[in-house]
Amino acid sequence: MNVSDVLTIAVSKGRIFKEALPLLAAAGIVPAEDPETSRKLILPTNRPDVQFVIIRATDVPTYVEYGAADLGISGKDVLMEHGSDNLYEPLDLKIGRCKLMTAGRPGQQTVASGRLRIATKYVNCTRRFFASQGRQVEVIKLYGSMELAPLVGLADQIVDVVDTGNTLRANGLAPLEHIADISSRLIVNRASMKMKHHVIKDFIRQLADAVTQR
Ligand code: AMP
Repeated sequence: MNVSDVLTIAVSKGRIFKEALPLLAAAGIVPAEDPETSRKLILPTNRPDVQFVIIRATDVPTYVEYGAADLGISGKDVLMEHGSDNLYEPLDLKIGRCKLMTAGRPGQQTVASGRLRIATKYVNCTRRFFASQGRQVEVIKLYGSMELAPLVGLADQIVDVVDTGNTLRANGLAPLEHIADISSRLIVNRASMKMKHHVIKDFIRQLADAVTQR
């Protein structure tokens, strides 16, 4: 089979891929190995014309944008932060739902003088959110464990995705302001959408049916 005939789907391991597996199965695509235990970065499927590439969640839009993958499954938070309009986003998979929020100590007053300091891995989303409200903030880029920042005085607040709120609560923090509702999306490379139109259209339709029947 010619490489260009293979449909490559970029995914990251973990909760979202796990939730996506039943939808993919309904569309006739099943990984040939357990993605949680396999060390392979290119994972074959039951279909010789479909493969997964296993990458970090934040890299999924990049692989799809550059055409290294035809399709990808990506959280809306990752897509908003990536900020490219060079991708098609044809389908909300309605999995991996959570909210992008600001959080801080409950009842904390806004800083009276000086700029509010926000620690986050979502620096672009954070700047956009506060700028849209005309509020000036200082944004500190972190790569994880954001909840720690307000506890040790690195920042006044954080911006992070919140599901149950348990992680915030366990660290004495509370959600404050809602920025966006998040769910996982199917994304498609623009050239692939043209070159592999029929196979991608079929795949989107089957996935969309699986989403509505869920
Ligand atoms: P929570 O249920 O609010 O305690 O969420 C636990 C942690 O999991 C949060 O700090 C988030 O970083 C992460 N998380 C929760 N839901 C999602 C999601 N849908 N996508 C990505 N990360 C998530």
